[in-house]
Amino acid sequence: MLAEEPKQTVLLIDDDRLNTKLLEVTLADAGFRVVTALTGKEGLQLFEKQPPDLVMLDMLMSDLHGLSVLTSLKRRAPALPVIIMTAHGSEEMAVEAMKLGASDYLVKPLHYQRVASVVREHIEKSRLRATEERLTHQLRESSLQLMRRVAELERARRKLEQAHADLEEAGRLKTEFISMVSHELRTPLTNIQGYVELLLDETDGPINDAQREYLEIVLDNCKRLIAIANDLLDISRIEAGNLRLAKTRLRLQELVEEAVRSLHPQFRAKNLQLTLDLAPQPLWIWADRERMIQVLNNLLSNACKYTPAGGCVTVRAYPDNGRALVEVSDTGIGIPEQDLERIFEKFYRAENSRQEATYGTGLGLPIAKSLVELHDGHISVASKLGKGSTFRVQLPLLEG
Ligand code: ADP
Repeated sequence: MLAEEPKQTVLLIDDDRLNTKLLEVTLADAGFRVVTALTGKEGLQLFEKQPPDLVMLDMLMSDLHGLSVLTSLKRRAPALPVIIMTAHGSEEMAVEAMKLGASDYLVKPLHYQRVASVVREHIEKSRLRATEERLTHQLRESSLQLMRRVAELERARRKLEQAHADLEEAGRLKTEFISMVSHELRTPLTNIQGYVELLLDETDGPINDAQREYLEIVLDNCKRLIAIANDLLDISRIEAGNLRLAKTRLRLQELVEEAVRSLHPQFRAKNLQLTLDLAPQPLWIWADRERMIQVLNNLLSNACKYTPAGGCVTVRAYPDNGRALVEVSDTGIGIPEQDLERIFEKFYRAENSRQEATYGTGLGLPIAKSLVELHDGHISVASKLGKGSTFRVQLPLLEG
C-alpha cells in the first residue's frame, strides 16, 4: 500500500467569519488541511505552533494591521508563501504587501472556485523554489569542496615536485661525489703501481724472492683498486649521462681476438680451455673500440672467474637476422634462477658467487649493459646452476 502524502496546511487569518467558513470548506474539499485564526495575534501564535505551507491573510482586521502581520510572518519565514486578501479599492495596500514579500493578492469578494488552484500553485511554486535553493546550495557546497580538493591536490603535486627535485639533486651530488673520489683515488694508485713495477723490474737493484712475492701481492691489490675506481667512475659518468663514445667502423672479430688475447694469461693460470668460433665473413659494427673491448673483457673475465679450473669457455661471433651476435659461454658455477634478473643491477652479486668467496663489486655487468645499450645493442643471459652460463650481446650490423 502506498503511504498517503501528508496534507498541505493552509493557515487562514481573517476576522470575517463568513469568509473563513467558506474558505475552510472550499480548501478542505480540495484536500488541504485548514487552520483558522480570527485575529492577527492568534494567527501569529498558530504560525509559531505549527508552521503551515501557506498563509491566507486578510489586510483589514480589528486587532493588527495585515501589513504588520505580514512583516512578522516574513521575518520568521522569508520563504513562506502568503496570499493576501484585500477589499475592493485597496489595490495600493496590495502593492505595499507585494513589496513586503506577499506572493499574490485576492480581492474580496473572492472567487471561491479559483482559490484552491491559486493556493496549490503558490505552494507548488514555493516548494520548487525551496528545492531549487537546496540544489543551488548543494551545488555551491560541492563546488567549494571540489575547489578545496583541487587546492589540496595542487599542494600535494607541488610537494611531490619538490621531493622529486630534491631527490634528483641528491642523486646528482652522490654521482658527483663518487666521480670525484674515484678520480682522486686513481692518481695515487697509479703512482703506487708504477713504483711497484719499477721495483719488480729490479732497475735500481735486485730483490729477493720473498720481496718479489710481496710486491706482486701489492701490485695485484693495487690493480684491483684501480679497477674499482675505474668502475665507479664509469658508473657515475653513465648515470650523469656524461660518457662520451668515439665510435668508428670496427670488425667485431678483431675486438674479440684482442679481448681474448689480453685475458689469455688468466685462462692459462686456471687451466681453462678457451675455444673461439668466429664467423669467417667480417662483422662490421659502429662502436667505441675501448668500450666494446671493456664489455668483452668483463664477460670473459667473469667466465674465467666463475668457472672452476679445468672448465671450458667458448666465444662465438656470428651474424643473426641482420645483427651481430657475440656469445660467451662457460661451464662454470651458473647463476641461480632467482638471481638471473638482477645481475645487471648495480652492486648485485648472485648468492652462489658470494659463497664461492670470489672477489667482485657487482659493477661490471651493469656497466657492460649500459655500454651495450649506448651502442643500440642488447645484452642477455641464459644460465643453469652448476652447469654454466651464456652471455649474449647483440649489436646492429653495418652494411658490408
Ligand atoms: P662481479 O663479477 O664483480 O661480482 P658483475 O657485475 O660482473 O660483478 O657480475 C654480477 C654477478 O653476476 C656476479 O657477482 C655473479 O654472481 C654473476 N655472474 C656474472 N657472470 C657470471 C658467470 N659467467 N657465471 C656465473 N655467475 C656470473
